[in-house]
Amino acid sequence: MTWAPNRAVSLFRDVAARARQGRLGAPQPAGDAGGLRRVLRHLRRVMAGSGTSQQRLEKLVGLIARELQAEVCSVYVMRAGEVLELFATEGLNPEAIHRTRLRVGEGVVGDIAAHARSMKLADVQSHPRFAYRPETGEEIYHSMMGVPILRGGRVRGVLVVQNRVQRDYAEDEVEALEVIATVLAELIAGGDLIGPGENLPTQGNAVLPVRLTGVPINGGVGLGEAVLHQPRVPIPRMFADDPDAEQERLIEAVASMHSAVDDLLAASEIAGGGEHRDVLETYRLIAREGGWLRRMREAIVGGLTAEAAVQKEQDDARARMSQISDPTLRERLSDIEDMTNRLMQHLAGAPHTAAAADLPDDVVLLARSMGPAELLDYEPRRLRALLLEEGSAASHVAIVARALDIPVIGRVKGLLSGIDPFDPVIVDADNAQVFVRPGDDILQMVADNSRLRAARRRAYAAQREEPSVTRDGVRVSLNLNAGLLIDMQHIEETGVDGVGLFRTEIPFMVRSEFPSVAAQTELYRLVLDQAGGRPVMFRTLDIGGDKRLPYFDEVLDENPVMGWRAIRVALDRPSMLRQQLRALIRAAHGGELSVMFPMVSEVAEFDLARAILDKELDRERGRGGVLPDTIRIGAMMEVPALMWQFDALLSRVDFVSVGSNDLFQFVFASDRGNPRVAGRYDVLSPGFLALLRAIADRCQAANVPVSLCGEMAGEPLEAMILVGLGYRIISMPPSKVGAVKAMTRSLAVDSLASYLDTVLPLSVHSLRQKLEAYARDHGVAIESG
Ligand code: PEP
Ligand code: MG
Repeated sequence: MTWAPNRAVSLFRDVAARARQGRLGAPQPAGDAGGLRRVLRHLRRVMAGSGTSQQRLEKLVGLIARELQAEVCSVYVMRAGEVLELFATEGLNPEAIHRTRLRVGEGVVGDIAAHARSMKLADVQSHPRFAYRPETGEEIYHSMMGVPILRGGRVRGVLVVQNRVQRDYAEDEVEALEVIATVLAELIAGGDLIGPGENLPTQGNAVLPVRLTGVPINGGVGLGEAVLHQPRVPIPRMFADDPDAEQERLIEAVASMHSAVDDLLAASEIAGGGEHRDVLETYRLIAREGGWLRRMREAIVGGLTAEAAVQKEQDDARARMSQISDPTLRERLSDIEDMTNRLMQHLAGAPHTAAAADLPDDVVLLARSMGPAELLDYEPRRLRALLLEEGSAASHVAIVARALDIPVIGRVKGLLSGIDPFDPVIVDADNAQVFVRPGDDILQMVADNSRLRAARRRAYAAQREEPSVTRDGVRVSLNLNAGLLIDMQHIEETGVDGVGLFRTEIPFMVRSEFPSVAAQTELYRLVLDQAGGRPVMFRTLDIGGDKRLPYFDEVLDENPVMGWRAIRVALDRPSMLRQQLRALIRAAHGGELSVMFPMVSEVAEFDLARAILDKELDRERGRGGVLPDTIRIGAMMEVPALMWQFDALLSRVDFVSVGSNDLFQFVFASDRGNPRVAGRYDVLSPGFLALLRAIADRCQAANVPVSLCGEMAGEPLEAMILVGLGYRIISMPPSKVGAVKAMTRSLAVDSLASYLDTVLPLSVHSLRQKLEAYARDHGVAIESG
């Protein structure tokens, strides 16, 4: 890769040439690269020297004033309550130190902090914001240049230089002062200047609690410390001994980041488009755009290390972001922030996630987006909540989080810029609110909410023994969706009838290699043991889409959710399916075995899969193995095309299970993992409900049991409608059973069914409001668990 010489480099060359010609007598102003490097060298000496932070700060202001040929240099430090306090000065009255205080927004200094932007004024006293403080004696200084001291994208203080004459500071000088401020930020953040409590990261500029919102993905309340899934990398050194070597390091890291992003773009799970791909495409664009790199390279020419230069760019982007309300621009800045984070990881070596780190006991995990296997890398007992900048309710990471009963909020705007590592965070996923550094009032509210929740859970537990029967005597079978062994413990606790969906791919996703037949047999046997004789519907591997096995072929699908997935993979790699079916047959060990195939698109596919099962049964019989005494074979109804071969299918299957997550995405052509279209269409739209009713009616007419195991079955309102449409078997995550049972026991199906007859023909976007009103008016309990 070649680089065009940037402005700082040519400046540097220019200064060097002038020096050679003996044209530089007086100290060079710090605005050029050589001058800046010299200032940084001196700063480094002071920073590494002895004394308290306050003493070092005092030495630094003297040094900066001298080097920048200014009569005044002052540092204002941000204190709690949005107050900027003069901490050190060269040139102003020393009596003013720790006395002069300005609110953010007050005076020119306050304005710099409020907008996190630098200013240079030849005549500061005529500026409308000028606030005269007599104790400082600053009336004799006319020109001024000030820059925010940023760290973690927040304003930690303001660095100011002043001159008596009306001096026009050059842009280069402002940039040099900004680099110097980066170094001071380290002193303020890491030193003993102010109490550690005051050093807490802040949103905007104040040490204040912050509230962020998103969309609820899995309910519940979680309290913990913020942990970034992809942690920010600590900076080993601020100052460069060898700027050329640092430039090289930056170039290499950028190149390796480019190829990593290219690889990601080519990778199967995102190749099909959607939000994730857009984000990476944007990275690629920004990464190749000049400004971003130029700024970092200039900072290195000035004397910073590659890491310090990247951090400076990141801090600047975050500070700019806090000032910008335009959503497109904000998004772009947040992309820059994200990418600088990525770049930092490449500088540090291999990109890593927090899963391998020492974690606090209570973790609120923060990520832009995450795959289901990545979540499973964490110890579940520490996870209190998951917050995503992207993410939607039907994505597989949400499903895994639900299985682990972790509250999740998705599409939290400003998540990664609004929360710093180890910030205390409360996640109220029921109301999709995130409280960062919560105050006492919030803590009280959360305590009340938790009490209420605990009371509700106690009430649900008390109804465990009660039958799941509606007020008018209709029995509704409630079942669990499971995928991990830990899910199985909930069978007893919730009193469900069985497991309506066992996602077999989830145990595969947490392994580093394909499990052998023996290992699979052992796992399925444990599942059946823990089910204690209750039926378990094993779904054969549904890999592909966002469910990747680390040890399985990379697939370059254009659109993975509609690509090589589920039964398609199974039929093309029959040995994998055969091994799985063999393990299931052995695990059943003479008992009942229920198996269903995912994403069946046509009857012929079902026939092929069934033939493989029959072959495995023959094989087992041939080797004298014990066959299951009952085998029930089902198909998942997830692809609309199957509707037109439904009678043929019903004549072949023992049961049908509606995968409403996939069915919905295919019916509406609306990617379930894409937050941009999440919520655009509603499962409670008349069209989708009519389809669900048709499926239930035709299964009933053919006397084939039908269940529904998509996420909608776990929402009390949606579950109410399913019962109204004729579904008598539904399956959901363990945490949802209590609320759905409470709904069932408060419902009269008859009158709901006739109400549905009247509203289903309506041509409206959604029936949600009407159905909620119906539930309210008829005393149906539809509170979420
Ligand atoms: C579904 O699609 O509704 C379903 C239950 O399967 P999964 O969510 O695992 O794709
Ligand atoms: Mg599915």
